[in-house]
Amino acid sequence: MKKRIFWSIFSASLAVLALVTAFVVLALYNTYETSARDDLRTEAHYLNSKLLTVDDEIGYINGYYSLNRITYIDSDGTVLYDNTVDAASMENHADRPEVVSALTKGVGESIRYSNTLLTKTLNYAVKTPGGSVVRISKTQSSAFGLLWDIIPVILTIVIGVVLLSAVMSRLLTKRIIAPINSLNLDAPCENDTYDELGPLLLRLERQREELERKMLEITKHRREFEVVTESMNEGLILLSLQGDILSINRSAMNIFGVENSVGRPALALNRSTAFQEVVECALSGAKRDAQLTINNRYYQLIGSPVQSKDGVLGAVILILDMTEKQAAERSRREFTANISHELKTPLTSISGYAEIMKDGTARPEDMKGFAARIHQEAGRLITLVDDILRLAQLDEQAGFPDKEDVDLYALAEDVISRLYPLAEQRNVKVSLEGERVVMPGYRRILEEMVYNLCDNAIKYNVPNGRVNVNVKRSSEKVVVSVEDTGIGIPEEHQPHVFERFYRVDKSRSKETGGTGLGLSIVKHGAIIHGAEIRLYSSPGAGTTLEIFFPKGRG
Ligand code: ADP
Repeated sequence: MKKRIFWSIFSASLAVLALVTAFVVLALYNTYETSARDDLRTEAHYLNSKLLTVDDEIGYINGYYSLNRITYIDSDGTVLYDNTVDAASMENHADRPEVVSALTKGVGESIRYSNTLLTKTLNYAVKTPGGSVVRISKTQSSAFGLLWDIIPVILTIVIGVVLLSAVMSRLLTKRIIAPINSLNLDAPCENDTYDELGPLLLRLERQREELERKMLEITKHRREFEVVTESMNEGLILLSLQGDILSINRSAMNIFGVENSVGRPALALNRSTAFQEVVECALSGAKRDAQLTINNRYYQLIGSPVQSKDGVLGAVILILDMTEKQAAERSRREFTANISHELKTPLTSISGYAEIMKDGTARPEDMKGFAARIHQEAGRLITLVDDILRLAQLDEQAGFPDKEDVDLYALAEDVISRLYPLAEQRNVKVSLEGERVVMPGYRRILEEMVYNLCDNAIKYNVPNGRVNVNVKRSSEKVVVSVEDTGIGIPEEHQPHVFERFYRVDKSRSKETGGTGLGLSIVKHGAIIHGAEIRLYSSPGAGTTLEIFFPKGRG
């Protein structure tokens, strides 16, 4: 802008300067020439009038003093006298227009330019009374010459103009630009500036509004996207076509153990071949699945390309945690295998006894015993199926009635009385301590839990042993504990006793009619009630099982 203003001022000044110089030179030149010609004419006639009074014209002219050049020419053109040059060296002047004109018409005038055109000579000739010609000449600068003379002045003025233009352009630019620089582009229409900028500012305002609207929309979409992806349990990564991370959600960061790595190459997240293949395949436009193990957890990777009609734009990598699913599948498989095994044993013995009875090979006195064994095995089967059904129900957490207020003390009392015959049979003394505690829960499940704990405490006890059931309320929890003086559980078995079909001593469990599902049912019941189980046991000293329920009412 400064450059443009400078050149505008400079060229305008230069044009004005040129015009003014031309006019001035012409005007001066005209005046200068006219007055010179007048001078010559006046002097020529004055001299001629003087010659009227003398006989010796050459003699008079010779004594005449003049600032101009005076030439005395004979009527045949011979130069007889010249006050500047030696007359003898001068050529014949008969053909000079001013001489010709003076000889014929009495006066003559001419202008001759020098070879360089920088000077010119004005001549004025008159015919003398003696018939000769006297010519007065004056050499002065031509128009070019005059111009040539004032070139230094012009140059000085041009330099002045350049400097002035530079200074003025700087000042002008500052003044012109100041209102533009102070424009408030956040509110274009509120600016008080040049009217000419009005349409531009209006357009800026509209574009700004449009931009703001679009930014809000984009921010809203981005927030929605973030809320959705951040609340996902699955890892989600968006990749650019170059394989750089555009977006990565919290789950994916946790899985790969990185902090925000947006902008970094995806392959830096995990160096495994499976991951690299999924990324490369998705970026090349094909869907690809793979399994990945990180820190003993199993993940399924699903890589899909993001495509538009112009081709692949990037890729989406979804990471699903399959650890629990795999474990569940494994335990289901084991459970099925265990059930088959557990059911097979009593069924095989029932089938065996029944076969003997059918063949008639058994002695009549043994028949009663066989029938009793069949009855016993059938009873075991029924208990087993009952436990399996109960567990399945707890697993699905379905088919329960609504929670009700359960008095745990009364419930424990009831369970103990039901187990009294067993305790008598085993010679175990069961006692109940604590207070009346009412809490919301599923009565049947709670009954089952307390029953299984007490049943185990009696079954895995020693003759003359004791079982103490305690129901109490602490500041935050309701605690039911079943303590026995039984055989105890070796430490290495303790973490497993809650697993399905797990028995420390298989033969003892079978002999006592155990299914290996009792503590599993207790564990599931606790999960459903949000309770925590603690087990303290040492072989020979006894076992204590405590269940901490979240605080109830009453
Ligand atoms: P079971 O039907 O065999 O009793 P449980 O799931 O109730 O199955 O118990 C699993 C195993 O834990 C039992 O086989 C037994 O070996 C051990 N166990 C459970 N409770 C006690 C206890 N109070 N004292 C000693 N061992 C116990």
